[in-house]
Amino acid sequence: MSKALLKTDNLQNFIDGEWVEKHESAPVINPANGKTIVDVPLSDEKDVSKAVEAAGKAQKEWALVPAPQRAEVLFKAGQMMKERKERLSQLLTMENGKVLEEARGEVQEGIDMAFYMAGEGRRLFGHTTPAELPNKFSMSQRAPVGVVGIITPWNFPIAIATWKSFPAIVAGNAVIWKPATETPIMAYELAKILEEAGLPKGIMNVVNGRGSAVGDAMVHHDDIRVISFTGSNETGRNIASECGKQLKKVSLEMGGKNAITVMDDADLNLAVEGIIWSAYGTSGQRCTAASRVIVHEDVKEKVEERLLVEIEKLAIGDGLDESNKVGPIINKAGLEKIEKYIQIGKEEGAKLMAGGYVLDDDKYAGGHYYAPTLFTDCTADMRISQEEIFGPVISLIPVKSFEEAIDVNNGVSFGLSSSIFTTDANRVFQAQRDLDTGIVYVNAGTTGAEIHLPFGGTKGTGNGHRDSGVQALDVFTEWKAVYIDY
Ligand code: NAP
Repeated sequence: MSKALLKTDNLQNFIDGEWVEKHESAPVINPANGKTIVDVPLSDEKDVSKAVEAAGKAQKEWALVPAPQRAEVLFKAGQMMKERKERLSQLLTMENGKVLEEARGEVQEGIDMAFYMAGEGRRLFGHTTPAELPNKFSMSQRAPVGVVGIITPWNFPIAIATWKSFPAIVAGNAVIWKPATETPIMAYELAKILEEAGLPKGIMNVVNGRGSAVGDAMVHHDDIRVISFTGSNETGRNIASECGKQLKKVSLEMGGKNAITVMDDADLNLAVEGIIWSAYGTSGQRCTAASRVIVHEDVKEKVEERLLVEIEKLAIGDGLDESNKVGPIINKAGLEKIEKYIQIGKEEGAKLMAGGYVLDDDKYAGGHYYAPTLFTDCTADMRISQEEIFGPVISLIPVKSFEEAIDVNNGVSFGLSSSIFTTDANRVFQAQRDLDTGIVYVNAGTTGAEIHLPFGGTKGTGNGHRDSGVQALDVFTEWKAVYIDY
């Protein structure tokens, strides 16, 4: 089935408008069953250099194409993604493991981003300002930065790539994209779409390979002017430090330790639905996944009881089977990290109410599955309440007041997403002001960001830049001030 869907036996790099074979490769494994789907090229520094050289030449021409015409390519790409949505979603489920319903949602985000950025191509506005002196015209305008590098993670293989590459392209840049080695199929498909949509040669280049080889070469290449990275905190910090030495612009989107707060006046059915979806969707492998639940002590028992009922109902298995609601963990290393934290939680004295084990019956053969897990009676300072686990694990922390809930929510080193369930209008306004995260939800879970608003976070989650929204254009443009005396 996979070969028929994919329509190729092996993936290639896409450099200067050509599909290039590589001798060295690695298997792309379906995390649901451990089977190899296809091989992905393992590239090196030389491949990066070729791509950058081609991109540099192509970008000079592309920058001269009127922005609305550049936008038209994205509009066509969006239409093609829409036509191919179901096939793309199935391939995404196969390479990443997320269930088909979520894969469709992710592909839709890419489609939305294509149309949104096609619109922004007509709105690359600058400003005119009154000058201090007579006979002087003053204005600002956005200029492309040149060749940009984007490095993306496996957990959102197509959405994140569109959040970065579409604003870069519409603003007149050329892109070198290194997708995660685990999930290169979406990169192959998206590059094909952009090629067919009429993007000139050399504007989108996909160079597959390990972060330590391809990613590192991109970070160190003098002619890549911006690195836009999404991934783990550790890798992001190392990239930032290298970019700092070169004074290279860098945009970082990293992890989260997101919390849902449930107040004593909340609609508990709504809250439990939000918790289940945010904590266990994509098996908790989302940067915005809810991994902490902060509950007012007066409703703690009711919330726990209802969570246990809903956890019991979750069908776990291969995401292509639409009766399953939770898919696999991406790989063995991911599974081992979760197991390590379960042990830590037990040693810290948290009470394990559900899950806490690997699913290894015959039904799960070859795949990496973890039971949805609920720790309760956690304290805010436990490691399981502070560190990103990246699996289907909730740390439930009881609190006595709204003020304590806000303090606990903010008392972590990350600041990506937060949510509060309450029916008190005053608390809604106080919470949206006081929650120290880049994204705040009221009466909804911590996931489900839309592309027209800035995506990213505070503190250890990032360095102040944002993906998606009109703000994404700030990463891929320089402001130029122009004074004309007459
Ligand atoms: P990761 O290990 O940091 O990898 C992310 C990307 O960086 C991959 O393409 C990886 O390549 C590459 N990379 C690895 N080492 C590199 C190096 N030395 N130089 C340059 N690039 C390098 O992260 P992950 O495990 O794939 O992704 C999960 C993490 O991403 C989680 O922490 C999650 O919270 C975060 N995330 C954040 C957001 C957000 O917007 N805030 C969104 C999604 C995910 P290879 O893996 O191919 O070697």
